[in-house]
Amino acid sequence: MGRLEDLAQRIRKVMDQRENIRNLGIVAHIDHGKTTMLDSLVAAAGLLSEDLAGEARFLDYYGPEHERIITIYAKTFSMVYNYQGKDHLINIIDTPGHVDFSGEVIRAMRAVDGVVLVVCAVEGVMPQTETVLRMALAEKVKPVLFINKVDRLIKELRLTPEEMQERFIKIITEVNSLIRKNAPEEFRDQWYVNVNDGSVAFGSAIQGWAVSVPQMKRTGITFKDVYTHIEEDRVKELEKKSPLYDAVLEMIINHLPSPLVAQKYRIPHIWPGDMESEVGKSLSSCDPKGKFVMVVTDVSVDPHAGDIATGRVWSGTVRKGMDVYIINQGRKVRIQQVGVFIGPHRVPMEEIPAGNIASLVGFKDVYAGETIAEVEIPPFEHFKTKMEPVVTMAVEAKNPKEMTKLVEVLHKIQKEDPNVVVEINRETGEHLISGMGELHLEIKRYAIEHDYGIEIEVSPPIVVYRESVGTKGPTVEGKSPNKHNKFYIHVEPLEPKVLEALINKELPEGRYKGKEHVNKFVELGMSRDDAKNIWDVYMRNVFVDRTKGVQYLNETKELILQAFEEAMKDGPLAREKCMGVKVVLDDAVLHEDAVHRGPAQVIPAVKRAIYASMLMADPYILEPKQKLFIYVPQDYMGAVTKVLQMRRAQVMGMNAKGDQIEIVAVAPVRELLEGFASELRSATQGRAYWFTEFWGFDRVPKELQPQIIKEIRTRKGLTPEPPKPEDFMG
Ligand code: GDP
Repeated sequence: MGRLEDLAQRIRKVMDQRENIRNLGIVAHIDHGKTTMLDSLVAAAGLLSEDLAGEARFLDYYGPEHERIITIYAKTFSMVYNYQGKDHLINIIDTPGHVDFSGEVIRAMRAVDGVVLVVCAVEGVMPQTETVLRMALAEKVKPVLFINKVDRLIKELRLTPEEMQERFIKIITEVNSLIRKNAPEEFRDQWYVNVNDGSVAFGSAIQGWAVSVPQMKRTGITFKDVYTHIEEDRVKELEKKSPLYDAVLEMIINHLPSPLVAQKYRIPHIWPGDMESEVGKSLSSCDPKGKFVMVVTDVSVDPHAGDIATGRVWSGTVRKGMDVYIINQGRKVRIQQVGVFIGPHRVPMEEIPAGNIASLVGFKDVYAGETIAEVEIPPFEHFKTKMEPVVTMAVEAKNPKEMTKLVEVLHKIQKEDPNVVVEINRETGEHLISGMGELHLEIKRYAIEHDYGIEIEVSPPIVVYRESVGTKGPTVEGKSPNKHNKFYIHVEPLEPKVLEALINKELPEGRYKGKEHVNKFVELGMSRDDAKNIWDVYMRNVFVDRTKGVQYLNETKELILQAFEEAMKDGPLAREKCMGVKVVLDDAVLHEDAVHRGPAQVIPAVKRAIYASMLMADPYILEPKQKLFIYVPQDYMGAVTKVLQMRRAQVMGMNAKGDQIEIVAVAPVRELLEGFASELRSATQGRAYWFTEFWGFDRVPKELQPQIIKEIRTRKGLTPEPPKPEDFMG
């Protein structure tokens, strides 16, 4: 570790030279070689560190015993490269391989100032190339181009040098036309990639070699040399003479911006605060003396240290022992450790200044996307507190031996994505993963299998519904089985504003004791009498006591509430949770002897009365809906709206963004289950990308309700028809 610390010292020095730092990502169409390229750079970092720090060989990346969990999970890595006599710090942040729908890619894009766009020489520009490039440009992230798999042009396709050149020109022209269309206004004429200035490189990630025009001039290697080396299978030699890292790192250093340059134009674009404020100025100038501000890009779970939050420091300097706010959660925490990931190792540092990537220890429950800062400022990304997991799948490892690893990965995924909930089903012991929709869960499934290499079995996705009432129901008498106790109960819809406040967590749930929230309830439209007599708030349902002078009521209160909560957990229509129901106890007659008013008497009597009144109060099912944000080239707008219409979606707006269009729509989760993603993809020839957020629960259309009830009940093994009020009376 001593040598690793030497290297850390060196890294620490570059950290102060902001002009020598590059924060970047590698992006590509699937299979074009992003991972291979990253591996090649990681391996180079190992070799380079030998030169830098004596004979240190710390990068035993693939040694399974080597802090394996971190190796698997860490998604950022730093390397030092001495270019023209100056140490440069290259921070690579991994961007998710699967471009779809979750905000994850955009979030990763925000943390970098540049990307290396990898395009396969054989396949050329593909739909996803276009998508990732568009996403980068939309975030004001500058691209450079790497044309990969050049070996295949020579060995497999047997192209002549001239034919190869034609192919390269075609790819470069296509990339540049995309840049022209999508680059931010002010850079439209500056961000072209160009063979001659070295913002384009060619090579083979798998063979570890690459060339660019400036580098060929420097090394004296000609294109013809490359060609003959490959043809004659002298690949190792080529790798030595013209290593990939040499051409690629030069391209990165010369053509991607440093944080000092990039933050000036990026901060106003990605941070909603006041640019003229002290923090605003410090952010845009990447000032290490300003207030500390960081955005978390990745959370890894270390078995010893706990949660490690890795992210980009945009302003100030982070130090051990510092007290910071987790802005979206309004919490304050103390930073216990500060460090960087050099490959799989987390190396402690005293402090890390603006423009760099830092890993911090000392948090619990932090999520990717969160803003951590020394002062309370507007967050970089606004968090949706309204999110609810509305689609659930059971997950199982195909190989039981991988169960522990799977559980770890599930927890990791939950931390990375605030919209995922992982639970254990207490009845079956299954691991359940819940998210905002099937697509959302599909991405997670892909990550588990592809990124973490665990083969899994999943159950079909299940949508979660709610039950509620549309009008006031009649007061129903609930008689206990022994006929000695009678409860007079009715239900009514909860005041809409009260429900909204409960959804937004502006009012607490649970048993109410004092009268501290009375005024708030009254403000939101509840009568003062009711507000003063709230006994319980449970899953956005309220229990109100309107009785006067009923004997023994207080002693029975606990059981009544237990019944209320049970009823709200299993609604009468389909045994889904209730929401927005006010249950009112109008009167009660109780037996004087406690023996005759035990749980077996009180609970069924109360529940039956609640159910009967609900079934006579225009009961209905609520379904979860998602807000969709879909981005497509304008030509496909019609195709997308058609797909949306087929799925009961309501288009809320369309906004032009460059040459593409943003379509905002609200759609029932249920309608997005089967094949929506593939339908959208084929309708747009793969040119759409989208993400969603939870919108809320909404009443299902009347004509659909019987069918939905039937479906849920059948899945749960209940009779297909819901009960009638009479079933709970008498
Ligand atoms: P990713 O999906 O973009 O991360 O792509 P990968 O890095 O996983 O590469 C996809 C496939 O292409 C793998 O089988 C690689 O071995 C192969 N591959 C990557 N780079 C090259 C290359 O330069 N030449 C050849 N012939 N194959 C490559």
